[in-house]
Amino acid sequence: MKGILDRICRSELIRITPVVFAALAGYNHLMSRILNEVLSANRTYSETFGEKGQLALPPARRFAILTCMDARLDPAKFAGLQEGDAHVIRNAGGRASPDVIRSLVISHKLLGTREWFVIHHTNCGMELFTGRTLSNLLEQSLETANLTVDGWVDAGQGPGSAAGRQIDWLEFHDARAAVVDDVRTIRSHPLVPQGLPIYGYLYDVATGKLEEVPEATKIGAALEG
Ligand SMILES: [Zn+2]
Repeated sequence: MKGILDRICRSELIRITPVVFAALAGYNHLMSRILNEVLSANRTYSETFGEKGQLALPPARRFAILTCMDARLDPAKFAGLQEGDAHVIRNAGGRASPDVIRSLVISHKLLGTREWFVIHHTNCGMELFTGRTLSNLLEQSLETANLTVDGWVDAGQGPGSAAGRQIDWLEFHDARAAVVDDVRTIRSHPLVPQGLPIYGYLYDVATGKLEEVPEATKIGAALEG
């Protein structure tokens, strides 16, 4: 069946959409609407890719941003980035986890960045739970939980898993204090050069503005060598 469909597609006699192809080929799911939208957007993007194909691997403006994965934050827009400009490292909360240290060290040591930003934001989801709560929810089921007036509620069928108890979820309850903590963690790491400045900022999701966290920037200041 798949071979026949491949030949039909290759013949170009029939313009077959990816969705129809997926259905005819007996895939166990139709291509999701989101998948279709993303691939369509990418076709449009690649059509005008032009000179970007010649960009160098190291970031041209030689800096890196660590920030939260929150969907409302677009570092390319709020920090004025073009492709090839800077490294952007994202995770839940924009926390300085061991894997972020790994990325930042590579960013500087092998790819030449020489200034780093730690940017957390207002109204962060990391302020809405504790590690214990999340681990309890995961033990009940792996389905998406609901935030109600009574707190987090899990209506999933289960089974869940206790594996969440092995993870440090790195939640926080004060975004500014978390920026300070993360800048301090990076600053004090033995693989981070002391002459590299680390700036601490808070992004306001209501205004799009970056506000400095002076205590963080002070801790992250480059030390005279
Ligand atoms: Zn966040």
